[in-house]
Amino acid sequence: MAGQIDIDIRKRFASGAVVEARLHLALEPGSVAVLFGPSGSGKTTILRSIAGLEQPERGSIQFEKETWFDAARGVCLSPQQRRIGYLFQEFALFPHLTVRQNIEYGLRGRPPVARGEQAGQMMALVEIADLADRHPRQLSGGQAQRVALARALAPEPRLLLLDEPLASLDAPARSRLRGELRGLLIKAGTPALLVTHDRTEAIALGDQMVVVAGGKIQQVGPVQEVFSRPANLEVARSVGVETIVAGRVTGISDGLATVQVDQELFTAVPPDDLAECKDVFVCFRAEDVTLQTGGPLKESARNHLAGQIVAIDSEGAVERITLDCGFPMVALVTRHAREEMGLALGAIVTAAVKATAVHLIPRN
Ligand code: ADP
Ligand code: MG
Repeated sequence: MAGQIDIDIRKRFASGAVVEARLHLALEPGSVAVLFGPSGSGKTTILRSIAGLEQPERGSIQFEKETWFDAARGVCLSPQQRRIGYLFQEFALFPHLTVRQNIEYGLRGRPPVARGEQAGQMMALVEIADLADRHPRQLSGGQAQRVALARALAPEPRLLLLDEPLASLDAPARSRLRGELRGLLIKAGTPALLVTHDRTEAIALGDQMVVVAGGKIQQVGPVQEVFSRPANLEVARSVGVETIVAGRVTGISDGLATVQVDQELFTAVPPDDLAECKDVFVCFRAEDVTLQTGGPLKESARNHLAGQIVAIDSEGAVERITLDCGFPMVALVTRHAREEMGLALGAIVTAAVKATAVHLIPRN
């Protein structure tokens, strides 16, 4: 089941908070679009509006050829009519029902035999057949998540909506279940829209990414593209681009832009929309910066900058090294590589970053 979803809504709460979303998504079977953004940015409001749990005061929501919501025409289908599956952050399993009964709950209205069969199939799909007679309090966080997923999938929804599905789990379970959840969603084959504020989760679970900030959609695109080519400063910050510095384009030739930052010149591939804008933010990711000792090697496609190591922060096997190049710049190296190169605080190194890894954002 592929799904086209077209959204153009505006929701204003009594508190004065306004969430606006205009969005077109083509959701392939088993693919996941991630709604990503900081807390309070409007993700849940958008998801609940799609589900039919929240009613925007303006706009429309279209799924395939069907109108789910149209404020002007007074159309607002119920969640049941939309045939969506919704997975809440805290799973919301009924404590007094068994696992099997929880899953069958969403199948009321079907004959008992069909209900039993479908529940059985769903338990097999998420591999919890042996838990059928347990109650929610007898389940681990991960098992409860599988039950909630089976319950949401049982009525064969056309679209699965998941709001921070890993947020209520402890950190070790969360990282283990990220991969499992991705596998289960692919196996289920239902297109999914998943809310998260966690970058690692967005990368691990998403095919497409919708960045939400300040009650507005900022960018839509393949996850990797959004991470490497953020559309604006807000997105660059929210996807955690480590180096963001103001610069000025001094020339463009042979499809490459020269940008002055402080006393340094950068070579970058200019974006199509750079146009006449000379003031830019120069952005690149720490993982695209390599460090060398003993002066720059000759590689035309790379920018080379001398800098002094001012901070080394360990993130386990990987270390985050902050350089002072006249402006702060961050590189990621393995602890092993740093020790081999003998890099320590105060050392002068050469940082190299490819022109294709340097992204420019117009600055106005
Ligand atoms: P997110 O899921 O990204 O954390 P939400 O969609 O929950 O963000 O909230 C977006 C904004 O709308 C916030 O400013 C929040 O305080 C406000 N908001 C959300 N729900 C309500 C509500 N029921 N009543 C009043 N304000 C709300
Ligand atoms: Mg939320």
